[in-house]
Amino acid sequence: MSTFVHPFREGSKDQKDLLGGKGANLAEMTRLGLPVPPGFTITTDACRYVMHHGQNPPELAEQVTAALEDVEQQIDRRFGDREDPLLVSVRSGAAISMPGMMETVLNVGLNDETVQGLAAQSGSERFAQDSYRRLLQMYGATVLGIGASMFEDALEAVREDRGAADDAGLDADALREIVGRYQQIIERETGSPFPQDPREQLRGSISAVFESWNAPRAVIYRNAEHIDHELGTAVNVVAMVFGNLDDRSATGVAFTRDPSTGEHGVYGDFLVGAQGEDVVAGIRNTRSLEELGEVLPDAYQELLRTMDVLEEHYRDLCDIEFTIESGKLWMLQTRVGKRTAAAAFLIATTLVDEGAIDEREALTRVSGAQLTRLMFPRFASGERDVLARGMGASPGAAVGEVVFDSETVIARAQEGRDCLLVRRETNPDDLGGMLAAEGVLTSRGGKTSHAAVVARGLGKTCVCGAESLDVDPKAREIRMGGEVVAREGDVLSIDGATGEVFAGRIPVEPSEVAQYLEGDLAADDPGASALVRSVDRLMRVADEVRRMQVRANADTAADAERARQMGAQGIGLARTEHMFLGERRAQVEKLILAGDPAEREEALAELLPAQREDFAGLLRAMGDLPVTIRLLDPPLHEFLPDLTDLSVRIARAEESGRRIEPHERKVLAAVERLHEQNPMLGLRGVRLGLTIPGLFGMQVRAILEAELEVRADGGDPHVEIMIPLVGSVRELRAIRREIDDVTEEVVAEARAGAGAGAGAGAGEELTTRIGTMIELPRAALRAGEIAEAAEFFSFGTNDLTQTTWGFSRDDVEAGFFFTYKERGILSDSPFESLDQYGVGELVRIAAERGRATNPDLTLGVCGEHGGDPASIHFFHSLGLDYVSCSPFRVPVARLECGRATLLEEGFTPQP
Ligand code: PEP
Ligand code: MG
Repeated sequence: MSTFVHPFREGSKDQKDLLGGKGANLAEMTRLGLPVPPGFTITTDACRYVMHHGQNPPELAEQVTAALEDVEQQIDRRFGDREDPLLVSVRSGAAISMPGMMETVLNVGLNDETVQGLAAQSGSERFAQDSYRRLLQMYGATVLGIGASMFEDALEAVREDRGAADDAGLDADALREIVGRYQQIIERETGSPFPQDPREQLRGSISAVFESWNAPRAVIYRNAEHIDHELGTAVNVVAMVFGNLDDRSATGVAFTRDPSTGEHGVYGDFLVGAQGEDVVAGIRNTRSLEELGEVLPDAYQELLRTMDVLEEHYRDLCDIEFTIESGKLWMLQTRVGKRTAAAAFLIATTLVDEGAIDEREALTRVSGAQLTRLMFPRFASGERDVLARGMGASPGAAVGEVVFDSETVIARAQEGRDCLLVRRETNPDDLGGMLAAEGVLTSRGGKTSHAAVVARGLGKTCVCGAESLDVDPKAREIRMGGEVVAREGDVLSIDGATGEVFAGRIPVEPSEVAQYLEGDLAADDPGASALVRSVDRLMRVADEVRRMQVRANADTAADAERARQMGAQGIGLARTEHMFLGERRAQVEKLILAGDPAEREEALAELLPAQREDFAGLLRAMGDLPVTIRLLDPPLHEFLPDLTDLSVRIARAEESGRRIEPHERKVLAAVERLHEQNPMLGLRGVRLGLTIPGLFGMQVRAILEAELEVRADGGDPHVEIMIPLVGSVRELRAIRREIDDVTEEVVAEARAGAGAGAGAGAGEELTTRIGTMIELPRAALRAGEIAEAAEFFSFGTNDLTQTTWGFSRDDVEAGFFFTYKERGILSDSPFESLDQYGVGELVRIAAERGRATNPDLTLGVCGEHGGDPASIHFFHSLGLDYVSCSPFRVPVARLECGRATLLEEGFTPQP
């Protein structure tokens, strides 16, 4: 029999996969002796069982009953007892935090009888009725699927009737009336009364939490955050403690450091006489945690002590949910807190300075995704008028049209328009709009509001609680002091670091971290900020520890220089196709139209000097670092006019009686001849080299002559020639023969004092290496023999993904891919993050087979995945030698290669 239920005292923080983050940390806090109400966790295994079998595991009911009895004993109350009932909360909690995306039901166990017992025990009829109406509302919406607005409208009606400003102004009598109305709603909408049996309530709540794993907003969130849909959620059943019991009761959230700067201090919000989600929902204006010291001094002191214990234990920023019941502190949740990208770097190095962790561990506490965020532009400095101020909840500079609802944001974003989602407060259903918007602006809620927490998690710029703004989604305008300051469609700019809101469009400039990474700002420059120093420190650690090298994909000398500045250790892919565009297109056309070898030779001879210059530029820019030049890859027709355009042009000309030039006819014939239905699977790469005599030979000659020329000037280039789209060793061998012939010629000419780098000994200096791309499944499978003819492999994971999945890389992301994501079949695009199970398996096979034949084989990656953090960790695990990515992603790759090395040594990654 499997165990699906674990009491808190049995688990630990290292069991997040099984118990979810919330469950694992509740267990950890219980073991630390902190005040956690008794409870138990139903595992993610149970959730996965439900997902796959459509019903609970048979042993679950019995295990839940036993665990509940255990809780009853610990707290000395019985579930369903009329006199003194035990109530429980049923809370979701996945391995990776998904704030606000799944469900929670509080006060489970109340019915028409136990509510009387609760009133008698607590001495407060008001409190008991308040708890009951919350259960009815949450159960009704979450378990029974009744629209939340029905409950809200009923509440609003009673509030108005009684002249109460907010919920706190409702007395016991009013709350009883609300309970009655809610029960009527439930009976009317479902055809049955609210279940009075507490055990039925518990069963229903547990199932609802499991089901909420696949609620649309949860699926969207996982897609956005690249979280596996198979993980499932755990369910925590916890004895209720009440923040709404009396005026010495409260509930709140806190951070052990400022989540946006990492500074030590007291950060958080609380509400007196409130329960659960009231604080984060932003419906009532919260009070700042420091004030708690005045309201409930003893509980406040205990909270501070508890936070110290947690920081000491987790050695990191923790965030906390707590409840105070009649002056007694209870911990309801803790986790290593979500933070901004800047705070992640600052906190990591601060912890090193405080002696809590060493530099290597500090590196594991940051990520490439965070570094990317720090490279985003910020607002240029300068005088300007601030329209309003809120809290800088998630940094960045966002400019966009004001839009008041998520659907419109999504629609406009699809048209390519930049929008700001402007709301009074956001709720979890706004997730789609938050993702599509450039930034989020709210007029209510603090740093822990839904908008702030979710935006930080997504790295989305957010200003919240700009209270001077009167956001009116009905009138679709924002007013200040009664005057309209912006209508829907007007442009605003928001600064998520300072919380400032500006009218109109503010220009942006490169971030300080980008300036540092591009070599325009030194870390020891007196003007460099603490953040730049932190980044510099951790980049150095990454460079010191990492095993894999990082190269860049760069085609021009300018790109190559930028890549070097960013720390690239070579060029892993210089694509040569763009070198054939512009003015040179005419020469390519001549090559394609050549009627005989002489004409072809002439066209090639014209291209040669230009190509030599291209390559010499690249080699000079990279000094003694390796430069991998790939021979021409795309289908030839890309260099010719479009077939339809050309046919139409000629047809029109014929119609109007204009004489058609023979050249035009020749071009049309060539375009027709070269037209392919599936050009990406057609005449490209090595196939082109084998079909057009002399084309690859010309490129090889240009490369070798450039190498000799740079050498003659005192340089020490390391050139690698790479053949694309090879599927068989025979293709590679045929091209190698051509390369050998050209090499012999070039060397002979140099010796004879004819070509570039002329002079004795010139030939011996050539160190050119020849290798191939592995970008077809056949190449991966036949890698053993292909390695006999190659000194290196470079995995072209773009084409390898395309050909393994049979997904067109140019079409799929705009096509049915959306449906695949929506249906939870794929959470990530395999073109962004490597499909480690399928495509990754081919990479593994090729690496193993290639090395078995040729132990000296160098293995690299030059597809887009070379700059993707998750893929980098995978390549590291296969023992590859380097990754190559676009210059802008080189710093991220350096950082992630460092982390990959450390994590392999057993550091646990940050959740
Ligand atoms: C690849 O296919 O991964 C690759 C790097 O080549 P390209 O993107 O130029 O086809
Ligand atoms: Mg390719």
